[in-house]
Amino acid sequence: MSLPRLLRLLPGALPALAAGLARPGCGRALHRAAPAPAPAAPDFNSFVPRTNTCGELRSAHVGQEVTLYGWIQYQRQGLFLVLRDFQGLTQIIIPQDEAHSHVKKLLSSAPVESVVRVTGIVSPRPPGQENPKMPTGDIEVKAETAEVLNSCKKLPFEIKDFIKKSEALRMQYRYLDLRSFQMQHNLRLRSQVVMRMREYLCHLHGFVDVETPTLFRRTPGGAKEFIVPSREAGKFYSLPQSPQQFKQLLMVGGLDRYFQVARCYRDEGSRPDRQPEFTQVDIEMSFVDQAGIQRLIEGLLQYSWPEERGSITTPFPSMTYEEALSHYGTDKPDTRFGMKIVDIGDFLRRSDIEFVQNALSYPRGTVKAICVPQGVRYLKNKDLESLKESAKSQFNQCSALGSLRLESADLLEAAGLLLRDPTAFHFLWVVDFPLFLPKEENPTELESAHHPFTAPHPSDTSLLYSDPAKVRSQHYDLVLNGSEVGGGSIRIHSAEQQRFVLEKVLKEDSEVLSHLLEALEFGAPPHGGIALGLDRLISLMVDAPSIRDVIAFPKSFRGRDLMGNAPDYVTPEELEPYHIQVSWPLAEKEAKQN
Ligand code: ASP
Repeated sequence: MSLPRLLRLLPGALPALAAGLARPGCGRALHRAAPAPAPAAPDFNSFVPRTNTCGELRSAHVGQEVTLYGWIQYQRQGLFLVLRDFQGLTQIIIPQDEAHSHVKKLLSSAPVESVVRVTGIVSPRPPGQENPKMPTGDIEVKAETAEVLNSCKKLPFEIKDFIKKSEALRMQYRYLDLRSFQMQHNLRLRSQVVMRMREYLCHLHGFVDVETPTLFRRTPGGAKEFIVPSREAGKFYSLPQSPQQFKQLLMVGGLDRYFQVARCYRDEGSRPDRQPEFTQVDIEMSFVDQAGIQRLIEGLLQYSWPEERGSITTPFPSMTYEEALSHYGTDKPDTRFGMKIVDIGDFLRRSDIEFVQNALSYPRGTVKAICVPQGVRYLKNKDLESLKESAKSQFNQCSALGSLRLESADLLEAAGLLLRDPTAFHFLWVVDFPLFLPKEENPTELESAHHPFTAPHPSDTSLLYSDPAKVRSQHYDLVLNGSEVGGGSIRIHSAEQQRFVLEKVLKEDSEVLSHLLEALEFGAPPHGGIALGLDRLISLMVDAPSIRDVIAFPKSFRGRDLMGNAPDYVTPEELEPYHIQVSWPLAEKEAKQN
């Protein structure tokens, strides 16, 4: 987002977001969601001596004495400076007369990014010197008194949104990076969205916010968990991948409608759009079916959607897993553009192309194609070469055509054809997933497509016992512009069925889940839920290139905290109470000794 656009958004952002609350509801889920009265704009100046923020002053304030606090963004020849805070910029005129020589000395010698207090009179800018790009561009403040509250040493990078800096440097000095308008906007918008989600869930639909433990035990299946040593020899806690078991147990406990803005942990290594710790809006309900959860989420997103990003229409379209794979080659299709995969096997059956005939001779052999609109005009030889290379490297993976479709779209857009409107938000439910998928490392064994607590599709229940690989599930994913932003399921609430799935289908040791299996035997209600990936959702809302741009203190690509330098070594003495010794690989041992 450009700086002028961001600046225009910032001062008005909060009232605009608040106004979003008063939008008349539409869609099925909202007919009960009577529009909440828009709260008054927040008072940013309560409890502190400042009278205004740096984004607030307009012509209407001319003549008033104001006190501002902020950071020095620019200072020009001892004549004026620009003061910045989270809300905007204000031009300060440095007095030149003898009576104010102390103020002049102070303000003209303070380095950029020093934090200062300025008290002065709001004045109109001289005619012709107004700045229409600045919301405060009609006025300036003539400083009367000033104080440098803390001076700033030489910076590792300039705090200006248009200055490019490496991500590693931004993370090392995250507290400086957070001063940028872009990061301020992202984190403030995130806070507003979460606030409105809470309102929708608690005030309008009776949900209860419950915190669940983050020190727990290993859960079978799913992602790798981080483990935390305990003082009992050989015993470890695990950091939960999600509050899945707890939210189900809350339903057994009669909590009925639960939600939590929950921190989750997955030791999955580095991926551009993943973090080892991340946040979910986690939801569970008793006595609900798949349609109920879907309407709830549509209403929740519509209610909390920031007005500056347009409006979203509900209900969201829905597509089966089978359709998604056959038309888009992925279970998270980007439906902002066409270029669907088409089966041209029948058409080519009459051809005499040898490799095509060869492919068609296999039992389920077929030929599929993507029509790239205006490809002849926009794609160069080198683009076709790179598509060929990708096809070769993904040969035999069924996702190959899906990624070729996306790669072709990237190439067309790089050549100047706009396919995916950056202001469009295409939500999509993907439903009817298989309950189990063949394990990647051993395709003769099955693993859960979602997680082991997902219930079979009601029409496929009997297949569970005869042909589990064919069972569809009550698992649904929410996709936005080709990214998975949520997933959930209706759960198994029969202990017997849950034990069968764990022991007979997944071949897991059900002992580690004995507490959950036992709980299901004590009158567990039918229940289901979903979790929205908050980081990814917000990053799509603000069009950020990475989820790290909407997390205050993210981990690096490799899972490290580059500011605090975590993870860090622990001495053998500190490890002793945990009965742990580090066995160092030789090279590291030598490096450490030197
Ligand atoms: N716990 C699940 C997940 O993290 C979501 C759910 O099934 O509610 O993907």
